[in-house]
Amino acid sequence: MTLEGTNTYLYGADPCVVIDTGSEDAGHLEAIRAAAAERGGIGLVLLTHSHGDHAAGADRLGAEVVLPNGGETHAGLRVLATPGHAADHVCFLSEDGVCFSGDLVLGLGSTIVPPGGGSLAAYMDSLRLLQAEEIELMAPGHGPWILDPAAKLAEYVEHREMRERRLLAALDRGERSRAALLAEAWDDIPIELLPMAAMAMEAHLEKLEGEGRLPGELGE
Ligand SMILES: [Zn+2]
Repeated sequence: MTLEGTNTYLYGADPCVVIDTGSEDAGHLEAIRAAAAERGGIGLVLLTHSHGDHAAGADRLGAEVVLPNGGETHAGLRVLATPGHAADHVCFLSEDGVCFSGDLVLGLGSTIVPPGGGSLAAYMDSLRLLQAEEIELMAPGHGPWILDPAAKLAEYVEHREMRERRLLAALDRGERSRAALLAEAWDDIPIELLPMAAMAMEAHLEKLEGEGRLPGELGE
């Protein structure tokens, strides 16, 4: 999802690495080329995941495009597999503690874990994987830099655990209606965000089901 456009990062020099191109717009690609030219050109284009708002235009920069696997290292950037938002999602970690976090953690708002394509269980594991790393600065795919990554990661984990606790409490009491579960566990959000919350709830229900913690069938 694009909030206010996708961030493109240039890392290193002689040549530099481009992280997430984000648009096929000719002006945007020209701006990347010009900025990269001042850093000795583009050696490699790295993608955090295959969603169009990150990968579009990547093949137009005349450099190799890689969406790597976890455990690899490219141009000094360590690759961490961080599935959840997308199955192929990765984050890049520099030796001096900068994490390019794609859509795992955003500078604004909250990340979507789409039901079906994404996985909340994997997403939570990915957040915890990053919590185990020494990260000084987070450079997200959308929104401003995150200057206190540890606090942001803790906030993300706690926020989702809070929703899960509330969902489980309602389920434990015997509530089986999706609408009622949504109204109860997401009672603090503005009405226009309810469709997004309903998607978030599906991701939670999928996770609980996968963990064998969903008590029976739910109705509308
Ligand atoms: Zn995405």
